[in-house]
This record gives sequence, C-alpha cells and structure tokens, in this order.
Amino acid sequence: MVRNNKRFETSVIHHGYDAKDMLGSLTTPLFQTSTYTFESAEQGECRFAGEEDGYIYSRLGNPTVTVLEERIAELEKGERGLAFGSGMAAVSAILIALTKANDHILCSSGLYGCTFGLLTMMKEKYNIDHDFSEMATKEEIRDLIRPETTCIYVETPINPTMKLIDLKMVSEVAKEYGIPVVVDNTFSSPYLQQPLELGCDVVIHSATKYIGGHGDVIAGLVVGKKDFLDEVAMTTQKDIGGVISPFDAWLLLRGLKTLPIRLDRHCDNAEEIVKRLKTHPKIANIYYPNDTSNPDYAIKEKQMKRGGGVISFEIDGSKEDAQQLLNNLSFLKIAVSLGDAETLIEHPATMTHAVVPEDSRLKMGITDQLIRLSVGLEAWEDIWEDLENALNQL
Ligand SMILES: *Cc1c(COP(=O)(O)O)cnc(C)c1O
Repeated sequence: MVRNNKRFETSVIHHGYDAKDMLGSLTTPLFQTSTYTFESAEQGECRFAGEEDGYIYSRLGNPTVTVLEERIAELEKGERGLAFGSGMAAVSAILIALTKANDHILCSSGLYGCTFGLLTMMKEKYNIDHDFSEMATKEEIRDLIRPETTCIYVETPINPTMKLIDLKMVSEVAKEYGIPVVVDNTFSSPYLQQPLELGCDVVIHSATKYIGGHGDVIAGLVVGKKDFLDEVAMTTQKDIGGVISPFDAWLLLRGLKTLPIRLDRHCDNAEEIVKRLKTHPKIANIYYPNDTSNPDYAIKEKQMKRGGGVISFEIDGSKEDAQQLLNNLSFLKIAVSLGDAETLIEHPATMTHAVVPEDSRLKMGITDQLIRLSVGLEAWEDIWEDLENALNQL
C-alpha cells in the first residue's frame, strides 16, 4: 500500500478517500447495500475468478468499509486493515487463523475477559493450549515457548491492572522462533502506541472504545501484513462472517477524525485525576501507565506517547465499599466499556472479569477492591468533585 507521507492528525481525516471519486462528497458516502450488480454474466464470472477488481457482496467488501480499512492500516503503519463486527469477532478470526488443533498460544498474564473465555473454549474443543506469562524478561518467554507455539498474544496496557509489556523485547524473542506476535492495542489506540513499528506482526482493536469514541458502535479492526490479512479475509472473515456493517464503518470514520484531540483530552484529564487520587486517604493503590512511581514507567516512556485515559485504583476497604463508591456517584456513569466522551466506572471483579475463576483473577491482580475508571472528556474538575464526594462518603 502507498504511504501518504502525511502526519497522523491529517491521515485520521483524509487517508484512503478522495472526494473526486464520489461526486465531490466531502465525507465518505455510506454504501448501505448488501450486494452489487454485474453488467453481464461474464463480468460476474471475472469478479468471482479474481480477474477483475470490483465489489460482489458486502460480506466480501464494501466501499465505505474499504476506506475505513485503508485508513486504519495507515494509522497503524501496516500493509492492510480489516474491519469486523466487534472486537471479539476480530480476536476470534485472528486466533482461529493462527492455530489448528493441538497448537499452543502464549499470552500476557492479563487479558480481556471474553478473550480469556475464547481461549478456554479453544482448549476444551480443539485442545489448543495456552500459558500466561508476565513477559518481564526474554528468558521467561523462551521458557514457555513450545514446538507447537504458533502465536504470542499480548495486551498492553493490560486490562484492568494497567501493567505494561515491552513490545520490542517480545517481538525480538518471537523472531528467534518465527512466531507471530499479536497485540490487542485497544487501550492505547494507534495515537499512543504503534506495535507494528516495534516489530510486532498483527494489531487488533476493539474499535468500540477510543476509535469510535462516542459509545454508539460495536466494532473491531485488525492491521498486519497483506499476505496474512488477505488469507484472513478469504477464510475466517468470509466464512465465519463477523463483518462490520457499512453504517458502523461510517460512524468509525467520523469518530477517527477527532481521535488525536480526544485522546489528548482523555490523557490530560486522567493526569489531573491521578494527581488527586494519590493524596486521598481512601485510596490504597493507583495503576496508571504515566505515573512515575509505576514500576513499568520505563516501558511507557519507550513505547507509549502518553498514559491513556484509563486509571485503575484500589480502595482501602471491602468489596461492599467498592460497590458503595459506585453507588455514591452523582453523574459519573456506572458502565463497562471505555474510551467514550462520558466518564465510565466499573468494578472488574463482579463485572468485566466476573467470568475469570477467582484464583486466576486474583493472580491477575484483580482484587475485590479494584475499580476501573475510564476518564471521559468532561471538565476534570467536575469528574474529580463527583469522585471525591463519593470517596468521602465511604
Ligand atoms: C472491549 C474489548 C475487547 C472486545 O471488543 P468488543 O468490541 O466489545 O467485541 C477486546 N479487547 C479489549 C482490550 C477490550 O477492551
């Protein structure tokens, strides 16, 4: 694919679309169609044979979706992008593409709850085993790699404990063995972290979060090498069918235009909230990548532009106190998901990570006192006032 030599803030708005091709329409048109007509039987034959470019059926491709796929590929500096109907449709398509029965996946020690559920199912149904690793050193990773390891799957920052993994280090070890590294980059978005530039092979996003940014779409995106994603498009995407709708692709193109300015505001607000949480007597621990007392701060400096909009913290109290804190809030919303304009707060042990068995959950650092805050775009003073009031009532 052709790089456009424009800066990130310009590419989020322009890349992959030329108004000249679409009757001058400033914004990308919404092609709300399921299928495409052929001018003749022979043309239909050529399209199916791959001898002529052109659309056939919207599960195989759609012009609005194509613009989105080209744009995300540019933003992640990859060769090709693919859009899916949800983040989990993207995760499952990639993991199924990279494994067969009896293979092995090496994972970071914390994972999105449903990804954990998917790995459990793959183990039960297809004997595809997995191990978890802190991935703190190269040795630790080498020790867990087996002859049948076909994928290293990493989240960083890890949801919800915000631990970080050094992606360049992981990709160096993986290259020794020729194993692809897949990174779930949802928490950072391409604005804050670009795993392909660090030597990783595939990037996955739940576009539901920062990329959409407005709490109105469920979608997933993948970026990687053209050969690999061509194969995914023709197998696990086409035949399993978890494609995005044209309208959702259109909403993501709209959301993407403001990604850099939204992310900067999320980060500014999060930094202000962290500063204040640190001095509050009810707070026992704070987990935020851009906090200088964070043990992984050096990794943040190497691979993330800023700390992001999600903060996790433990309160000094019980599970009931953690739940009471949520109930004490006046306008901050109790909800899972993240990356929206609205500040969202949730209790991972009983919500996003309730499916994880208690011993694994505690090993991941998800205690009953842990709370996850997705800092929104409101005035940080109002966010803090609501949070401080709720904490003071405990
Ligand atoms: C939300 C999320 C997913 C799943 O995405 P959906 O769009 O909800 O299917 C995967 N990984 C991470 C880190 C997420 O936050």
